Amino acid sequence: MSAQPTDRNAFLAELSAADYELFRPHLMSFTLSVGERLQDVGSLVEQVVFPHGGLAALTMPLRNGGGGGAIVVGRDGFVGGFAAAATAPAMCDAEVYIGGRAARMSASAFRYVLDQSPLVRRLASRYNAALMVQAHQTALCNAAHAVEARIARWLLEVLDRSGGFEVPLTQSTLAHMLGVQRTTVNLAAGRLEEAGVINCRRGYMQIVRREQLERHACECYRNVKAYVSRLFALPPAVTTAVPAGEVVIRKPA
Ligand SMILES: [Zn+2]
Repeated sequence: MSAQPTDRNAFLAELSAADYELFRPHLMSFTLSVGERLQDVGSLVEQVVFPHGGLAALTMPLRNGGGGGAIVVGRDGFVGGFAAAATAPAMCDAEVYIGGRAARMSASAFRYVLDQSPLVRRLASRYNAALMVQAHQTALCNAAHAVEARIARWLLEVLDRSGGFEVPLTQSTLAHMLGVQRTTVNLAAGRLEEAGVINCRRGYMQIVRREQLERHACECYRNVKAYVSRLFALPPAVTTAVPAGEVVIRKPA
């Protein structure tokens, strides 16, 4: 049972009071600013960021300045935890697309806390699994599904993390997330607007009928949501006692 306020980052909110006390001295509040880089691919990850709101996109860059293949993290997770735990270089870029409040801690403090609590390690692994399934599904999605269905999926993914009915992302930003040309997004968004599903205004997209948007989205949205629901419905119990096994040392033949 969580002891944390619900307006917090979901990972921090899930922690028990005792586990949160492990984090608390290391957390620093700050504001996520649009365009802020949280990490660059290949660089050593020095911080783990826990958004309380807003949105960061994890993307892979191309040498020609393009990129894409985005997965998104809002208050449902954290940025940098996977690499920080492994003392590994960042696997992707991370950039803030929607501003909001957040907390951060150093990568070394994050590793220290993981070492203190099996329950925190288990919970962090689940959040990393949620990111991994999003990445796997997105790889398939980019290869298999039409841009219009992918736009509908990402609008829902962003809505789930930001709340409300407006997606404060420009079509240029959405094009970068999807790894397609802006004109392609423009045409597909136009079709969704003609169908009465969204309104495009001042570069932002307003959701008119969410149930229609879900009907236009590809199966990837439901697949990721279903997996994550099952993942966090599992009990957080940790096996602490492992039966001692007999060690058999074979002589070389
Ligand atoms: Zn898809």
